[in-house]
Amino acid sequence: MKKMNKLREKMIRFMQGRYGVDQFSRFLMAITLVCMVLSLFSRKNVFYYLAVVLLIYAYFRIFSKNHTKRYQENQKYLQYERVVKGKWQKQKNQMAQRKICHIYKCPKCKQKIRVPRGKGKIMITCPKCHNEFQKKS
Ligand SMILES: [Zn+2]
Repeated sequence: MKKMNKLREKMIRFMQGRYGVDQFSRFLMAITLVCMVLSLFSRKNVFYYLAVVLLIYAYFRIFSKNHTKRYQENQKYLQYERVVKGKWQKQKNQMAQRKICHIYKCPKCKQKIRVPRGKGKIMITCPKCHNEFQKKS
């Protein structure tokens, strides 16, 4: 019991002033795990080495004492994550829209017009230039 306490004390002292885990480190760990799984299925050692390098980098960040730099890295990562998530969301929305809508271009002004599917032949009026044209939806 005493030994355990001493070990804990040592750990706490070791972690003092260290940066700790942030979102970027968690992301690195996740990628590490993916690489490890891939390395199990791949004959090439690339994924294994990549996993090792990523793990070392993740731990380097966690145990780092340069908080400012690590914080900046994390902010950059979060910014990047937001962009990727936004794009993904947009893609998903578009896919969902495509299931229920057709997107036509106005032959006159090239304005994109969304038309619900499955209505047969319909007349479309362009909201921009008021040009009318017929399409099958
Ligand atoms: Zn138009």
